[in-house]
Amino acid sequence: MIVTRFAPSPTGRLHVGNVRTALLNWLLARQAGGRFLLRLDDTDTARSTEEYAQSIREDLAWLGMDPDTEEKQSARMARYEEVLDQLAAAGHVYRAYETPEELELKRKVLLGRGLPPVYDRAALALTNEDHARFEAEGRKPHWRFRLDPALPREWTDLVRGPSHIDPASLSDPVIRRADGSWLYMLPSVIDDVDMRITHVVRGEDHVTNTGIQLQMFAAMGAPAPLFGHAALLTGAEGALSKRLGSIGVADFRARGIEPIAVKALLARLGTSLPVEPVTSDAPLLATFDIGNLGRAAARFDEAELERLNASILHQTAHAAIAGRTRLSEAEWNAVRGNIASVAEAEQWKAVITGPIEAPAQPEEDKAFLHEAAAVLESQPFGPTAWADLTEALKAKTGRKGKSLFMPLRLALTAQPHGPDMAALLPLIGREEALTRLKA
Ligand code: GLU
Repeated sequence: MIVTRFAPSPTGRLHVGNVRTALLNWLLARQAGGRFLLRLDDTDTARSTEEYAQSIREDLAWLGMDPDTEEKQSARMARYEEVLDQLAAAGHVYRAYETPEELELKRKVLLGRGLPPVYDRAALALTNEDHARFEAEGRKPHWRFRLDPALPREWTDLVRGPSHIDPASLSDPVIRRADGSWLYMLPSVIDDVDMRITHVVRGEDHVTNTGIQLQMFAAMGAPAPLFGHAALLTGAEGALSKRLGSIGVADFRARGIEPIAVKALLARLGTSLPVEPVTSDAPLLATFDIGNLGRAAARFDEAELERLNASILHQTAHAAIAGRTRLSEAEWNAVRGNIASVAEAEQWKAVITGPIEAPAQPEEDKAFLHEAAAVLESQPFGPTAWADLTEALKAKTGRKGKSLFMPLRLALTAQPHGPDMAALLPLIGREEALTRLKA
């Protein structure tokens, strides 16, 4: 069974890059009938808040990507302690006491000699007496994980293909600080083992972490999950954009973007499949293949999202938005081809129902509109009312094209553009149409 997780830190709101990571994990699990977990990486207690955790849950719910389970790292501290003890007993982790200043000095010396600034593992040489002395002095150790060329260092990335890290090029990572707080790296592995995660899908900024974490899985004696690293998103201009970090669900909602539009775009962005205006998850689930993700950065374009949203709405059935609109099915069908958001459809509802504030029209058009009212009064009013009206007016006045249609549209809707008048006029109704033409 496929088990995936989305593991945000509740230290801020989700941005579009996070939403994409969540979606990739959700698609992978849902298409296989597997499980999708929300794991809150809240070991940073100073910056993590319940408000942000709640906003993450709400964003996922709005997107229709509710997790099967929620886990919280802050509730698992005893377990992390237990694994640390086991790893210490097996020699995979060790205590060190260097201060940040001492470490910085070591770095500078190495860099000055043209060498990579890799930690020299001086702490591995400490004896039991050294540890006792430090402790007596009140110095608290931080913990490092000992990278080991003998442990696995290669993996076949679901996106990037054969990948590896060279443990000799990296410092043994600090996994726990002297104050007892945990860094992200080891708790994430312990969780992935305990929660039986089968696929870890995340941004390519985590590639080096994967090399390190692969060694941690092996040190725990646990099989590693499969890993996939998606190329990062860039802004419309192609460059890594600051703006992307501030675009999220709140912004989508404010702009009338539908959840399915966000999913339709993000599921296909950076893949070999085209972005299509789908109206449900089904076609996305049916076609999702993480192997289709390319290695090049994918371009997120807000204008593309808006266009996609509009073309999705043009095909959306009334039943799908029924709870969210005052429009009847006939009204929805009449206006959906002309809207960019459901809020815009509501504006057409107001136009249909009236009263409207039509702009003043030139004298010759006023006379024409009175003629139109007379024609409308003299004819039966049915589904073909618009064709009947314009045919009769054409014959009577010799007007055609814009000079025939525009004064009518303006008088009947107060707008120069909009949905097909043939669909709108029957919805406006005979009495209201007469009032508008006479006004
Ligand atoms: N909390 C980490 C992040 O948001 C999780 C990374 C991971 O998926 O392992 O970057």
